Amino acid sequence: MQNTPILIVGGGIAGLTTAWHLAKSGCGASVTLLEAENQLGSHSTALNAAILRTLGPDPLFTRIGLQSAEFLRNPPPGFSEVPLIDALGLVLVAAPGRQEEIRAWVAALQVPEGHVEELDRDGLRAAMPGFEAEVGAAWSFPREGRLDIAAIVAGFTRGAREGGVEIRRGARVASLLEEAGRVVGVRLTDGNSVRGETTVLAAGGWAQALGRSVGSRVRLRPTLRHLGVTAPVASVERSWPVVWYFGASNEEEFYCRPEGGGMMVSACEVVDTDPDRLEIVDECRTEIARKCGVHLPLLEESGLAHFWCGMRTLTEDGHFVVGADPDRPGLFWVAGLGGSGMVASAEVGRIASALLLGEDVEPELVKAMSPKRSAVRA
Ligand SMILES: Cc1cc2nc3c(=O)[nH]c(=O)nc-3n(C[C@H](O)[C@H](O)[C@H](O)COP(=O)(O)OP(=O)(O)OC[C@H]3O[C@@H](n4cnc5c(N)ncnc54)[C@H](O)[C@@H]3O)c2cc1C
Repeated sequence: MQNTPILIVGGGIAGLTTAWHLAKSGCGASVTLLEAENQLGSHSTALNAAILRTLGPDPLFTRIGLQSAEFLRNPPPGFSEVPLIDALGLVLVAAPGRQEEIRAWVAALQVPEGHVEELDRDGLRAAMPGFEAEVGAAWSFPREGRLDIAAIVAGFTRGAREGGVEIRRGARVASLLEEAGRVVGVRLTDGNSVRGETTVLAAGGWAQALGRSVGSRVRLRPTLRHLGVTAPVASVERSWPVVWYFGASNEEEFYCRPEGGGMMVSACEVVDTDPDRLEIVDECRTEIARKCGVHLPLLEESGLAHFWCGMRTLTEDGHFVVGADPDRPGLFWVAGLGGSGMVASAEVGRIASALLLGEDVEPELVKAMSPKRSAVRA
């Protein structure tokens, strides 16, 4: 039986960034990361839309996104040989009736000049001639756009390994080990056990079930989201920005960006799911096609060349879950990254690592992500 002070379960972005920051703090040799699959980052971390959008309704989480984006924009030397952000630009469009809500998000932003610019109708048409919608207002974020997910995952993985973290692939945790009410490690499906002083649940949509099996009351909501990429269309420009449309209701949300000569599109649905039975829902394909017909008429009848779904693990208040479990000593959470885990990756890892090492973290961040808060406890 192996013994390690910090045991991370899950080699998606949550586990990898936590491991990377622990390694950068000089503690890598005390960390083992266990990933069930033979490849790291092959679930939500590989199946997302790779969009860098930082603005949201909560200024605290917008700030986390901005800080994380700054890391990705200027990563430490040796992190990546290629840029991690392709600044295509991102345009947020509010339907009539939604503009004041989004304007309030923009007003709360503390950003340098040039980060955001309000677009009038002509400005929106010039920025994204292919997009059609009822428009109340629109804003352009020229520094945002598309993330290079493979390079981000590679950078965090390399840094963690070089800093001494042991990364074990094909190591699926079957159950958590408990002694006298304390979580003391894990048992793997091959029968071996790995003991840890702290076991970090960074297992995405699977984290909740693992936590619950030892009586944790942390509650997460695994949901499905589908993405499609259309066949190439001659009129699509590779330089178009990401467009994120906040329709008259949440059901009318939509986003798109250029991909492979066509467009990547999402109908932004939220469908509850069982992480062990991820399956495409056919109605979601129909809904994407409907929204494409409304917002991207230039695509005409071009069908979806690719269509897939992935898991977004949500919380009731939309905040992440990072911190020690209040009921189960020895258990620590880095989960519930919802729909912005890639954008927030660098900051999530920094906060998780600091808390694990007993370092100071801004109290408002600790509170907002605490596994103690009522929004994530059954
Ligand atoms: C369709 C879609 C679009 C999205 N678009 C964006 C976007 O544009 N921008 C953005 O920032 N975010 C986006 N997201 C969200 C983002 O992808 C997630 O927040 C992020 O990937 C979550 O990372 P994770 O490490 O928590 O989970 P995962 O990537 O799922 O990693 C969890 C890991 O734990 C492992 N694991 C599970 N159980 C065990 C076990 N028992 N033993 C060992 N290992 C285990 C899994 O194999 C997996 O590798 C999107 C998500 C989806 C689904």
